[in-house]
Amino acid sequence: MVLSMVDQHKPKCYLCSSVFENIEQLRRHQEADHKDFVEFHKRADDHSPAPGDVTVF
Ligand SMILES: [Zn+2]
Repeated sequence: MVLSMVDQHKPKCYLCSSVFENIEQLRRHQEADHKDFVEFHKRADDHSPAPGDVTVF
C-alpha cells in the first residue's frame, strides 16, 4: 500500500488538512464546513480597491 504517495497529488484542505478525491469535493467541503472562511474570502475578493471609492465615517 502506498496511500501516502497517492494522497500527495490530491487536493488538501488547508484549513483542517482533510484530503479529497478532487477539487470539487474540496470546494464543497470548504463551503459546508468552513462557510465563514469562504464567505470572508469571497467578500474580500469582491471588494477590490477602486480609485475614488472612499469610505467616509
Ligand atoms: Zn477543511
